[in-house]
Amino acid sequence: MELDEQLSDLGIDPSVPSVARMYDYYLGGKDNYASDREAADRVLAAMPYVLEFTRANREFLSRAVTMLAERGVRQFLDIGSGLPTRENTHQVAQRVAPDARVVYVDNDPIVLVHGRALLADGSRTTVLQADVLDPDAIMEHPEVRERFDFSEPIAVLMLAILHFVADDARPAEIVARLREPLAPGSHLVISHGFLGERDADKEGDVRDQYGRTGAGDIIPRTREELLGFFAGTEVLPPGLVPVSDWRPDAGFFEPDMSRTGFLGGVGRIH
Ligand code: SAH
Repeated sequence: MELDEQLSDLGIDPSVPSVARMYDYYLGGKDNYASDREAADRVLAAMPYVLEFTRANREFLSRAVTMLAERGVRQFLDIGSGLPTRENTHQVAQRVAPDARVVYVDNDPIVLVHGRALLADGSRTTVLQADVLDPDAIMEHPEVRERFDFSEPIAVLMLAILHFVADDARPAEIVARLREPLAPGSHLVISHGFLGERDADKEGDVRDQYGRTGAGDIIPRTREELLGFFAGTEVLPPGLVPVSDWRPDAGFFEPDMSRTGFLGGVGRIH
């Protein structure tokens, strides 16, 4: 079978950019096609800082997962996990706790293809295709139920995904559905596109840039809207801040809210 046919059987169309593959390109990965690179280059021409904050977002993931594993969390559900890159959730968590179990979820079939290849051992880490728009299907998924003990804490990660969920799809309700079945000691880890004070008038530009790529619309939200996603949790210090200011290795300092980027935070369920 031709490669094109194989890809199309898997639901992958290299001619249409995908946000997962564009993100891989921002991070310097190789699992992207010409269509992704062209779309990503257009975004970068308009918003060069995207490169910096996608990297800062990965470092946030690493620090947040390390902290949770050090606090005893052993189950990680990473929704909108993206293509495998360096320092993925399972590598970070299992460095602290070799027995940590990780389930990756993404709706893009490309993530499944590359994820399965990476996780050939398959025992403590798996990847499955599902859509965050159907949170019950994720929480009831047989592989999730088989691998996770819902009477023990679970960290649910949603990094750089919810800005792809339109208001009409009610993202705060989706997050609430994902939170409901979690035991005390569980956590939500969220990062999300945010327009800094300097760029507050540029929402239309950002949305247009992404919309025009054909990869999907991106919706930056305000800090207040994002705090709504943490309802029912205690947001741990330093709160919901630019991802680069979240427990940096250099120590805490005043978050800089003027810059556009991702806000990130960790909420604990009691
Ligand atoms: N979480 C990773 C990757 C972010 S890129 C990180 O922060 O580094 C965003 C990912 O969300 C992409 O892989 C994309 O395919 C996925 N995604 C977007 N909409 C989704 C949806 N409705 N359901 C599941 N995954 C989705």
